[in-house]
Amino acid sequence: MRPYILAETNWKHIKDASFDVAILPWGACEAHNYHLPYATDIIESEHIAAEAARLAWEQGARLIVLPTIPFGVNTGQFDVKLDMNMNPSTQLLVLNDLIEVLNRQGIHKLIILNSHGGNEFKQMIRELGLRFPAMFITTCNWFQALEQSQFFENRDDHAGEMETSLMLYLRPDLVLPLSEAGDGAAKKFRFTAIREGWAWAERKWTQVTTSTGVGNPRKATREKGEKYFKAVTEKVAQFFVEVAKTKPEDFYA
Ligand SMILES: [Zn+2]
Repeated sequence: MRPYILAETNWKHIKDASFDVAILPWGACEAHNYHLPYATDIIESEHIAAEAARLAWEQGARLIVLPTIPFGVNTGQFDVKLDMNMNPSTQLLVLNDLIEVLNRQGIHKLIILNSHGGNEFKQMIRELGLRFPAMFITTCNWFQALEQSQFFENRDDHAGEMETSLMLYLRPDLVLPLSEAGDGAAKKFRFTAIREGWAWAERKWTQVTTSTGVGNPRKATREKGEKYFKAVTEKVAQFFVEVAKTKPEDFYA
């Protein structure tokens, strides 16, 4: 029983415990090339949250990891079989209800640990911050915490070398042999502004990639996954510790 994982702990422990910050891992349930499980984003966020929380707990952070939300925004994958979409407006309602509980019970910091590129919480946090002024709500994308090129040869957008390596480390029993994987070849938008990153539009996934993957997974290994997992959880843990231990009046320097 890990005392910082809500789903594992119990009333005997919780009734007298106090926490500074709650962690909400948020995934998605979607196809990941031919070889990775639909739960890839769920598994990643759950493991990264748990390990980062363990490291932070050892440094004295009082934090509690909530159960992972398994559904993400998959509006662009509407025609990929059994990609389960949760609309942004529904996510706002889910967040509102969870934050209402935390706010009422005096846990005034929430970190969303996001695992899925289609999830965008910034605007929701602005609106919820107005509704719950005592709350400090923040979101982080673990997959952007480190420069991929330090660990991997091919850039991963979806189900490529990084995610495949991670899954080979975390749940190798759920990964098909790499010979079964598609090469992750994908098209990009034709528009210069979008390629430069200052304009944006949602990609229609099935027009971009046939395997559902974006990024070549062929060079993925368990060793790369382990090295990356250690580095990324240390970096995420540092954020957890800083948020847990910093008083609201000291947030700005
Ligand atoms: Zn993913």
